[in-house]
Amino acid sequence: MIRSTQVAIRSQRVTIIPARHYDETSRSMKAMLLKDYKDLSITDMPEPDVGPRDLLIKVQACGICGSDIHGYDGSTGRRVPPLVMGHEAAGTVARVGDDVAGFQPGDRVTFDSTISCGRCDFCRRGSINLCDNRRVLGVSCGEYRQHGAFAEFVSVPENICYHLPDNLSFEHAALIEAVSIAVHAANRTPVALGSSAVVVGSGMIGLLTIQAIRLAGCAKVIAVDLDAGKLQKALDLGADHVLQADQVDVAEEVRKLTGGHGADAALEVVGATSTIQTCIDSVRKGGSVTLVGNVSPKVEVPLQAIVSRELTLYGSCASNGEYPQCIELLKSGAIKVDPLITARASLDEGPDWFQRLYAGEPGAMKVIIQPNG
Ligand SMILES: [Zn+2]
Ligand SMILES: [Zn+2]
Repeated sequence: MIRSTQVAIRSQRVTIIPARHYDETSRSMKAMLLKDYKDLSITDMPEPDVGPRDLLIKVQACGICGSDIHGYDGSTGRRVPPLVMGHEAAGTVARVGDDVAGFQPGDRVTFDSTISCGRCDFCRRGSINLCDNRRVLGVSCGEYRQHGAFAEFVSVPENICYHLPDNLSFEHAALIEAVSIAVHAANRTPVALGSSAVVVGSGMIGLLTIQAIRLAGCAKVIAVDLDAGKLQKALDLGADHVLQADQVDVAEEVRKLTGGHGADAALEVVGATSTIQTCIDSVRKGGSVTLVGNVSPKVEVPLQAIVSRELTLYGSCASNGEYPQCIELLKSGAIKVDPLITARASLDEGPDWFQRLYAGEPGAMKVIIQPNG
């Protein structure tokens, strides 16, 4: 009932009826709100404020991220209710703030999940992912609450937005955020033409990392996971070899595949002691391990192996301005995301999908919510 009233108010604006029928403060939208842990519902909320440098974006696609599923039950402390989650999105510009220069209503856009300030020392030196005033869309962690894109509209600053080419669909564009994490991890990893790499973890980000590290020049990419279905996807998306971690000794198999030395690099996309250990055991002396997985606050690492074999560990956080390259990689088909999309769903179907993903929906990868679909 409330909903139909709001629709009426919007259409009244278009047909220009007397101003007294239009109240700026009454504009509202549908959003999927985390009211309490594990309690998501579709509610009416005020449309977000649009500051002078912000874009109001009509959300056409927003992916459910693993971090949303982990945050949904309160275990990560990064989704303190009430909160609208959602940070992997694309849509059309509905309105622009007074000082916005590069975008107009109707433009097709995507945006970074990290809101960087552009003014701190780290932003100024080009490390926007390390911004001192960093906020992540769809996160509330005690220090801030930044509503995200599981809603009809989201407001984001112009400096994190990117134009989309016409031939890139909104649902593929919603995966650019995930692609950017993989591309940044590949950019952090010192590989050259012909290098070998092991990717431990073949979930969503792992499958993108396999593609990214291949594009970075690796001639041999070895994928590791426990799940045979994910490993099949890894093969489909370009892994040369796959190893099922509970069936074989991964480090030994990697050595066999790399002339007895171990791989030049390993990328860890899980975030646990055992998988980090697998990476460290799988690289050659002088090799590197890039840490992308970020689930456990603390893990144990084999100090003496790292020191005596002179390994280098890299942390890789979100992405650092790689969006334009990621858009090119998707547009050209160099990175494929369509095989990773499990389902497309309406906003109303969102809470149910959260429950199913939380319960470990078999074979599920990316579920795309289409709030205006
Ligand atoms: Zn995410
Ligand atoms: Zn900054």
